[in-house]
Amino acid sequence: MVFENLSNKLQEVFKKLKGKGRLTEEDVNLALREVRIALLEADVNFQVVKDFIAKVKEKAVGHEVLESLTPGQQVIKIVHEELINLMGKTNAKLNDAGSPPTIIMLVGLQGAGKTTTAAKLAYLLKKQGKKPLLVAADVYRPAAIKQLQVLGDTIDVPVFTMGEQSPVDIAKASINFAKSNLKNYVIIDTAGRLHINEELMDELKKIKDVVHPHEILLVVDAMTGQDAVNVAKSFNDELGLTGVILTKLDGDTKGGAALSVKAVTGCPIKFAGMGEKIENLEPFYPDRMASRILGMGDVLTLIEKAKEALDAEKAQKMQEKLKSREFDLEDFLDSMQQIKKMGPLEQLLGMIPGMGKVKDIAGMVDEKELKHIEAIIYSMTPEERRKPEIIDGSRKKRIAKGSGTSIQEVNRLLKQFEQMKKLMKQFGGMEKQLKKGKKIK
Ligand code: GDP
Repeated sequence: MVFENLSNKLQEVFKKLKGKGRLTEEDVNLALREVRIALLEADVNFQVVKDFIAKVKEKAVGHEVLESLTPGQQVIKIVHEELINLMGKTNAKLNDAGSPPTIIMLVGLQGAGKTTTAAKLAYLLKKQGKKPLLVAADVYRPAAIKQLQVLGDTIDVPVFTMGEQSPVDIAKASINFAKSNLKNYVIIDTAGRLHINEELMDELKKIKDVVHPHEILLVVDAMTGQDAVNVAKSFNDELGLTGVILTKLDGDTKGGAALSVKAVTGCPIKFAGMGEKIENLEPFYPDRMASRILGMGDVLTLIEKAKEALDAEKAQKMQEKLKSREFDLEDFLDSMQQIKKMGPLEQLLGMIPGMGKVKDIAGMVDEKELKHIEAIIYSMTPEERRKPEIIDGSRKKRIAKGSGTSIQEVNRLLKQFEQMKKLMKQFGGMEKQLKKGKKIK
C-alpha cells in the first residue's frame, strides 16, 4: 500500500519518542533526523524535506513542548499538522463555473491515467446528481476515443466525439453541445505525449484559449515519484494548472509525489486515483492522508465508503446481531460479500487505527478466496453455522472433504470469522464515538 514504508518508519520513530517521559532538544533532533531520512527514502523532494523538518523543529524544541506532560505526543501532533499543511491543509474542491457548464480540461502524459480518470470523474459527478459530458479530444493515441466511448457507455454518460479532427475544434464544439443539451460539466480528455514537448503544450494552450476552462487538472502517475513532480512543475509553468489528480496511489508507490506536489508547484491535489475501477477516484483530503501516514487510520473515509457500499438494512441487522451475540457464519459470509463491494480490504484496513493486527483477513475477499469461503460454509450443517464453537476435529475433517479444501483452510476461516467479529465490534464502537464528536485515538 502507498506510504507503507514511510508509515512504518515514522511509527517506529514516534514509538521511541512516546516511550520517554521527558524529552531533550537532542532527543527531538535525533528523531527528526530519522524522520528526514524516512521522507527522503519515500522519494519526497529534497528541498521540501528540508523546509518541512525546519518547520517542525522550530515548533517542537520550544519550552512549551519539551516541558509539557506529554512531549512525545506533542511532537507527533506537530508532525501531523505540518504534514497536513504540506499537502494543502484542506480538501480542494472543484471550481464552480457559476453559470454552467463548468469546463474541466484534463492534461497529462501518456499512460498517466487521463482517459480512465476522465470517466472516473464523470462517474463521481454523476453520483452527485450532476450532468457531465465527456469529450474525446485525444485524437493521437489510436484507442483513446474508443476507450472513452466504452467507459462512457458503462457509466451512462454521453461522450462527445468528432473522430480525428483538430482537438481545438472538437473542444470548442463540445461546449456548444453541452450548452444545448443542458450538461453542467464538460470533461475534456486531451492528448498526451510520451514526454513534454512544445507541440503538446501549444495544442493545450490553444484549447485553453478557446474554451476558457474553469479547471485545468494535471493527471500524474504517483508511481513515477519525483518525475511526477517535475512534470507537474513544467505543466504548471506552461499552462497554469488549477490542480492535480494523482493516480495509482493504490500501488506500492512510495508516496513522495503526494507529499511534494503542492509544495513544489503550489497546486493542490484535488483527487486521488486508488485503483483501476471506475469508482476508484477519491477526493483528496490532506488531513485524512496525514492520519493514514502516521498510522492513525482514516475512519471518516471508511465510514463514507461503508455507507455507499453497504446495504443499510443489512448493516443494521448485522449490528443488531452483533449486539445480541448472534453473529454467525452465515452472517460472516454475507458481510464478506458486502465488504467486497467497498474495495480492496488491504486499503480498508489501512484506514482503521491500529488494524495492523488483523492483516490476516486482508486479501480474503478476492474472488477465489471468497469461493473457498463459500464452499466451506456451505459444507457445514446449519447448526455448525450458527454455533461454530461445536466444530471439532472430526467435523473439520468432514467439512474440508465436503468443500474440497483442507483442514488448515477450515481453521483459517474460523480464525478469520473471530477476527471479523472483533473488527465489526470495533467498527461499531468507532462510529458511535464519531457520532458523539469524540476523536478516535
Ligand atoms: P492515458 O494515456 O493517460 O489516457 O492513460 P489511461 O487512462 O489509458 O491509463 C493507463 C493505465 O493506467 C490503464 O491501464 C489504467 O487502468 C491505469 N490506471 C489509471 N488510473 C489508475 C489508478 O488510480 N490505479 C491503478 N492501479 N491503475 C490506474
